[in-house]
Amino acid sequence: MSISSERRNKVMTDIIPKLDFRPFIGGRFVNLPSDDVLPVTDPYTGDVVITIPHSGEREVNLAVMAARQAFDNGSWANLHPRERASHIVKLADLIDKNLETIALVETLDTGRPFKGALGWEVPNASEVFRYYAGWADKITGHTLPDIAGVNIENYQEPIGVCAAIMPWNFPFAALAWKIAPALAAGCTVVVKAAERAPLTTLLLATYVSQVGFPAGVVNIIAGNGNTTGSALAKNRDVDKISFTGSATTAQQVIRDSLDHLPGWSLELGGKSANVILKDANLQDAARAAIGAMFTMSGQDCGAGSRLLLERDIADEFLSILLPLVKARRLGDPMDDATEQGPLIDYTQFERVSEYVDEARRSGGNILVGGSGTKDGPNFYLPTLITDIPLNARIVREEVFGPVATVHLFEGLDEAIRIANNSSYALAAAIWTASANNAQEFRRKIRAGTVWLNCYGWFDTVSPWGGRGLSGQGKELGKEGLDGFLITKAVFRM
Ligand code: NAD
Repeated sequence: MSISSERRNKVMTDIIPKLDFRPFIGGRFVNLPSDDVLPVTDPYTGDVVITIPHSGEREVNLAVMAARQAFDNGSWANLHPRERASHIVKLADLIDKNLETIALVETLDTGRPFKGALGWEVPNASEVFRYYAGWADKITGHTLPDIAGVNIENYQEPIGVCAAIMPWNFPFAALAWKIAPALAAGCTVVVKAAERAPLTTLLLATYVSQVGFPAGVVNIIAGNGNTTGSALAKNRDVDKISFTGSATTAQQVIRDSLDHLPGWSLELGGKSANVILKDANLQDAARAAIGAMFTMSGQDCGAGSRLLLERDIADEFLSILLPLVKARRLGDPMDDATEQGPLIDYTQFERVSEYVDEARRSGGNILVGGSGTKDGPNFYLPTLITDIPLNARIVREEVFGPVATVHLFEGLDEAIRIANNSSYALAAAIWTASANNAQEFRRKIRAGTVWLNCYGWFDTVSPWGGRGLSGQGKELGKEGLDGFLITKAVFRM
């Protein structure tokens, strides 16, 4: 049996049947009164692998009530910060102990290559929990100079009950990015797993129950966006919504919660420009562009989906890049040789196909790719499109698939103008041998993250997040913690 069949067999027969995917509310797994279920499909085969309980408004309200009580009774916020840290570290330990199990479930559920799940995503979650555990006893206030004999103190307090609404593209890491800082700050949380990939989010409840967090501190449910997600957004006991997903859904979440105006942090999409100047190291830039455009089959908010080439080197650069694109190994995500797995589902496949077909109809030149493959129902070829106007839909909107558009420019000013011509502002990169060019780009580009002669780097210590349709607020780093704290000003006579 091949290693990929062995892994799929193991997760399907040894792991999934033994896991508890029921909603976790108030410190225990609960049975739903209805038989409402959510089918979970394997993106590689397109088959339903399991059905799980679908939480509705009733479970949302129970989960928020449990989180509210746990916050208000101080069982978590008033715990000694080092005690909070110790719970969070225990959770990280359990993740480390179960790395392979979580990575297998993540691969089955999202179609992301196992190598990436085991090598990056799951360890990253554990690292993020440890990092924020370290912050728990470093949350301080400060004293301001007296004014007319009045003493002024500022306290940093946990914001309260936090709703975490999850995406499907890297759900396990995204989960840590949200709940680790929330827990370190002393908040309680209600997590809604993404309906298209809910399994590892729900799996975390097993480890949470093993750590022994006070009841109601962490609640995890799964459900559809327009029912369960919307009920969560509307619940007035939610003090903060930490959302990762598309800009359109974020706008709906804001509308649904306008009545009570909770805090929002919004990690949304991107349309990031990857700029190659003529003085760049073209070999390095081409290799990095492959990862920028096609990691996670392009279902990555930071994807470099607009490739900007200085006209003088465009032909040479493409002559290096295209063979690399064509050599990309698509296949079973359980296989270590696979570089690109399937899209999350057939709906996503149709969405990607539609964007590319529209670009083709409007005169776009498909340099490579442009169709599905025989690897499975949800596979799409890595695709590059050129000769497409800057106002075309495929250039303006996030496709969320292995598709990039190629644009030519002359000089740094034009590159920056094109790069900034987007409603999104998540990330951008430039490749150049000139420190001056790099610094000018860094200063003028509208983006939350800028990569100079590299692509895709981020780190737990450094904040991630964009502007405009890419969202607001930051995750990771100290700023990721600040989003779960609120300042209380005290004046003392
Ligand atoms: P989505 O907006 O469809 O769904 C995100 C979440 O919102 C899901 O849990 C969904 O159930 C929920 N939801 C849907 N409708 C809702 C509603 N009316 N009320 C409340 N919740 C609702 O996004 P997606 O397709 O799951 O994720 C892909 C998007 O996420 C892409 O745009 C991607 O760029 C973005 N993303 C951003 C980052 C980042 O860090 N900036 C990271 C990952 C993904």
